[in-house]
Order: sequence, then C-alpha cells, then structure tokens
Amino acid sequence: MTTHTFDIVVLGGGSGGYAAALRASELGKSVALIEKDKVGGTCLHRGCIPTKALLHAAEVADHVRDAASVGVGATFDGIDPVAVRAYREGIVAKKYKGLEGLVKARGITTVHGAGQLRQDRSVAVGDDVYVGTDVILATGSYSRTLPGLEIGGRILTSEQALALDEVPERVIILGGGVIGVEFASVWRSFGVEVTVIEALPHLVPNEDIAMSKGLERAFRRRGISSSLGTRVQSATQDESSVTVTLENGTTFTADYLLVAVGRGPVTVDLGFEAAGVTLDRGFVVVDDDLRTRAPGVWAVGDIVPGLQLAHRSFQQGIAVAERIAGLSPVAVPETQIPKVTYSSPEVASVGITEAAAVEQHGADAVIAYEYNLAGNGKSEIIGTAGLVKVVRLKDGPVVGVHLLGDRVGELITEGQLAVAWEAHPEDIAPLIHAHPTQSEALGEAFLALAGKPLHAL
Ligand SMILES: Cc1cc2nc3c(=O)[nH]c(=O)nc-3n(C[C@H](O)[C@H](O)[C@H](O)COP(=O)(O)OP(=O)(O)OC[C@H]3O[C@@H](n4cnc5c(N)ncnc54)[C@H](O)[C@@H]3O)c2cc1C
Repeated sequence: MTTHTFDIVVLGGGSGGYAAALRASELGKSVALIEKDKVGGTCLHRGCIPTKALLHAAEVADHVRDAASVGVGATFDGIDPVAVRAYREGIVAKKYKGLEGLVKARGITTVHGAGQLRQDRSVAVGDDVYVGTDVILATGSYSRTLPGLEIGGRILTSEQALALDEVPERVIILGGGVIGVEFASVWRSFGVEVTVIEALPHLVPNEDIAMSKGLERAFRRRGISSSLGTRVQSATQDESSVTVTLENGTTFTADYLLVAVGRGPVTVDLGFEAAGVTLDRGFVVVDDDLRTRAPGVWAVGDIVPGLQLAHRSFQQGIAVAERIAGLSPVAVPETQIPKVTYSSPEVASVGITEAAAVEQHGADAVIAYEYNLAGNGKSEIIGTAGLVKVVRLKDGPVVGVHLLGDRVGELITEGQLAVAWEAHPEDIAPLIHAHPTQSEALGEAFLALAGKPLHAL
C-alpha cells in the first residue's frame, strides 16, 4: 500500500470536483483529482453538453423545415443519426481535450480509478491511499427510476437515449421536468411522435405556473402530447415496443420509454458514513459552508441537496476551494441560481415564482407583470412566441424573473443581476436595452413595473 499526500484530495472529477481542483491549484494547493471514468463527469459526457448539441441539431432541423417561410429555399431530407452522433461526440471530445489540458497545465494530479473514502481524510484507490489535509466529495448523481420500472431493453435513461443510433417513430417520456422536456423537444424536431407523462398537473412543475402553461401550449402546437396529473402504474415491453399503463387505466405504446424522473446521489458503498459523513435520504448533509459532519471533509454538486445544475456545482467547488485556502467566498442562495430548460421554446428563471412570493410576503405585497413576446420585434423576426414575467415586491425589489421563448436562456443573467442585487424596477428602467433584441422584452417589463410602460398599456 502506497500513501500519497496532498493538500486537497477531490473524489469525483465532474463539474463540482474539477472546479474545486482548478481553483485550489490556482490558490497554490497541491491537488489529487480522483476520477473513475472521465474528468468532466455527467455534464460534459452525458448531460449538458451532448444534450445541447442534440437540441442545436433539432433547431437546425426546424429552421430547414421552415426555411421557405423566410424566403430561403431548402428541403428537409431527414435526420442522419450517425452524423448527429459524430457532431455531438466531436463537441464533447473537443471540450474534454481542453479540460484535460487545463487540469494538466494547473499541475493537478489526476488519479484514474474508483475511490473509497476512509477515515482521517484519506481516499483509497486500489492499493494506493491519497491523504489530504482536506477532502472534497463530488461523486455526482445517477438516473433514478420508479419502483417496478426496470431500466433495460426499450426502457431507457437519458444516457441510453443519448446513445440511441436511430430516430424512433414513437417515444413515451416519463417525467415532464427539465430532462424529459428537453428530450421531448429534440425528438419532436426529429419527426418523432412524442408523449410526455407527468404525475404532477404541469410540465416543468418547479417553474412559475405561467411558464408551465405557456410551455404546454407551445408543445401542443408542436404536436407533442402530454398526459398530466396521472401516475404510471406499470410498463411492459416486448421485442418491438413498450406499453405504459397509467393508474387511470389509459395505455400508451411506443418504440421506447425514456424514464426521466430525477437523479439520485452517488453516495452508496463509498465509505462515507463509516468516515463520519452524515447522509439524509442518500444526500450528503452539509452546513452553509458545505462542510460535512466529518472534520476536513467537504461536499459539492449533485450529492448536496438542492438544484442539480452544473453551474451550481462549479460555484460550490470554487467556494470550497477558497474556504480551504482561507478566503471568505460569499455563499450564493439557491434562489439566485439561474435555471434554464433548453427546449423549444426555452424556459429560464431566477428568484422565486409569483406563488412563492405571495406565500412569503402576502398577496398585497406582490406585483407581477407579464410582457408577451408578441410585442417584441426580435422575437417576431426569429419566429418565437413566449412571455417575460417579472415579480416584484410593492415599492421593493425584483424577486423573480421568468422567461419563455426560443433563445431566452441567454437573457437570464440580467434577471439574475436584478434579483441578486435586489434591484427595484425603477433602478433598471432608466437603463437602455439595445433595439431590436429580445432583452427589450425584459426592459419593457421593468418599465411597466416602474409605472412607465412604453410598448404596452
Ligand atoms: C441529460 C442531462 C442533461 C443535463 N443538462 C444540464 C444543463 O443543461 N445545465 C446544467 O446546469 N446541468 C445539466 N445537467 C446536470 C449536470 O450534469 C449536473 O448537475 C452536474 O454534472 C453535477 O456535477 P457533479 O460534479 O456533482 O457530478 P457529476 O458531473 O456527476 O460528476 C461526478 C463524477 O464523479 C465520478 N465518481 C463517482 N464515484 C466515484 C468514485 N467512487 N471514485 C472516483 N470517481 C467517482 C463520476 O465518474 C463522475 O465523473 C444535466 C444532466 C443530465 C443527466
């Protein structure tokens, strides 16, 4: 058994782990980054990046189909799944190469292998032990399924759905959250008959109700069917199809079933509890500074309860590295983390919903304003419908910004600044939004809330 000593040992090289490693090395720490698969983790290899590449291919397909409407001659000849895969894998490979180069250039020691946390801030990988003054746990998450719904054959998780080398005729998607909705969007653009089944009454149920309803409308227009408010009872499959039965007896049959019902933390059999780390329903219990209950052991990313997003993981990794180095980074509240669902149309939000604002502050203290993208020139030009909704407190700050429409994900940073800086609409109203941009729709909402609407009543 060989012992290797570092300032910091990071277990898991995904968004949270590698961000912690990069920042720690920048701050002069020696770092071992232990990864059993590929540095970059879920986001780079199986999540954000490959799905967004698919969504881009889907957008191109839609543009080609609609080209005549803007006077451009083009014919849509179909989707070549092998070429789509090559494009997607090419993007991931380039980003992976860049990341590997960066990790190496920063002098981080990458250890390839499965690590097991031991007592006294050490991690075992085979016969080697990596001891750190501090250890950061960043083992990420896996695709969950429902009891009795076994993954395999025609029942897929997002990983297998990504790897599918065919364009199916019909798919059923179980789960109307971010991942389910994004795959629904891609497949529909590829010409697939799509049905989304969601147990809750709305798609993207964590978003403001106006966004959920708007997305449902847009999906209906795109020919995506949804079954909302009823749970799945069972799913059976044979060689050529899968049939899903709901609790109300309705059945759906398709070529594949994608199960997108959420992601669970990767924390089982990794020695966490034996080393003094407390788990709650599998997630790692941490304090506000992301310290676990085991001294010198920290946790970041999807294993920490809360939003499972890559940028949250990056931010947590950076914050922990800085705390270990003696700095005092400001903790970012969950409500200030922007969320984007990259379907067509996109849904983007930051802060709280109108319903949450009313619950927290009372109906009389909350003012919400909705600006329809029909009034926005740029949205008309690119052919998207949608909505901007801003929630403020009466005579007080903006507490929520909610957007629906193609490309609106790029606008959410302005919403984040408004919410995080507790800006009043009156503060933002004098600032100018370039014309014609989609950001003007946000500007119009701020103007209206400041009592001086321009292109609205
Ligand atoms: C289909 C899909 C699409 C997504 N799209 C987006 C998006 O558009 N935007 C966004 O913000 N988020 C998106 N996410 C979520 C995002 O991928 C995660 O929030 C993010 O990857 C979490 O980072 P992490 O570091 O906590 O974990 P991970 O990225 O899961 O990394 C954990 C790493 O730890 C390694 N590991 C685990 N156990 C061990 C062990 N014992 N020893 C060594 N290594 C180990 C794993 O191999 C993995 O590489 C998406 C996720 C999915 C599945």
